[in-house]
Amino acid sequence: MKAVASRAVRVLLGTTQLGRLWDVPVIMDWSLKVYFWVMIVLVGAGWWEASTLPVLAVAYTSVLLHEFGHILTARRFGVSTRQVSMFVFGGIAQLESRVEDPKKMFLVSVAGPLVNVGLAGLFFAIGFVFTIFEMEALNKACMLIVLINSVLAVFNMLPLYPTDGGQVVMSLFRMAGMDRFKAVIVACWISLFGAVLLGVFAIVQGALMISLVAVFIILASRQELKNTRAARDLQVTS
Ligand SMILES: [Zn+2]
Repeated sequence: MKAVASRAVRVLLGTTQLGRLWDVPVIMDWSLKVYFWVMIVLVGAGWWEASTLPVLAVAYTSVLLHEFGHILTARRFGVSTRQVSMFVFGGIAQLESRVEDPKKMFLVSVAGPLVNVGLAGLFFAIGFVFTIFEMEALNKACMLIVLINSVLAVFNMLPLYPTDGGQVVMSLFRMAGMDRFKAVIVACWISLFGAVLLGVFAIVQGALMISLVAVFIILASRQELKNTRAARDLQVTS
């Protein structure tokens, strides 16, 4: 009985594998599960609009497909993926190794946002067909998918580390002839500056979630800066 209860708690609240897509395990982190349960309770209690749930489902599905843009492009370059994890703040594809070649790194990085651009274009076209047949409710649903995917594409292309835009900046610097360490350090400084601007903007707008994202980017950029400097010093002295 105890085993059944602990299994039920793990399925409902713990980190579990949802299944496999293109032969890659898809993991749902506990943070996302808790978030969904909180939203279901809020909607059930009538404190939140019921339309929030399908919007969230579309948003996280779009994020998952974005991750597969990275995964399938990396696979073309011979890099496989251990798993893809879906967190409350988005998705992370754990590649088996780093894509070192700057041109390949550029292509792997832009592939995610390009999936969102493709989805936005596709659903814009579908919505247009619905308007011809005067199916306004379906057109509205399509436009919501267009909006979510446009936001995902733009946000991910901001030059903030560790988002795709940060990786793109880094690969462009390396393609321009900068060494790996210097390219990461410059990209991290751009990211720190951008995240401070984003944080100030979020505070002025009263957007709590965006200010948390800004804090996360500042911490991640500082950590990457520290790691890269340490790795560079190690290489210089060895
Ligand atoms: Zn991405």
